[in-house]
Amino acid sequence: MGALEEKPRRLKGGRIRCPRCGLMQDRVLTLEYDWVLLEPAVHPLAHTVPAEHRWIELSDGRVTVYGVCPPDQFQRCRIEHSLACPAQPLPDLWPWLTTLRDQNARQLERLSAPEPPFSENEWPDAG
Ligand SMILES: [Zn+2]
Repeated sequence: MGALEEKPRRLKGGRIRCPRCGLMQDRVLTLEYDWVLLEPAVHPLAHTVPAEHRWIELSDGRVTVYGVCPPDQFQRCRIEHSLACPAQPLPDLWPWLTTLRDQNARQLERLSAPEPPFSENEWPDAG
């Protein structure tokens, strides 16, 4: 009786050079067998990374987005190279903060105060 099943092979994609910045990045298979390009050697705590950008490694080497909410406080994750790539614009990582900033900007525009909201002493010296 021979073994009919192959040993589960590590589904590692290896390292490739980012076509935009030229730095090396890890090419890793996702749970859905798509490729994702991850920043090498960076494993931040999951709760410090926006939820949809937390990748965790599975036992077979593939990765998936870490969907546990709230995240375990000690869970480490990986991030896509595109978040760290100096040659790509940073995506909107915290959409609710962007919305709040836009709302505050509109609120400031509506205010027609004759004086600025802060005293001059609070502004850094522009010199
Ligand atoms: Zn890059």
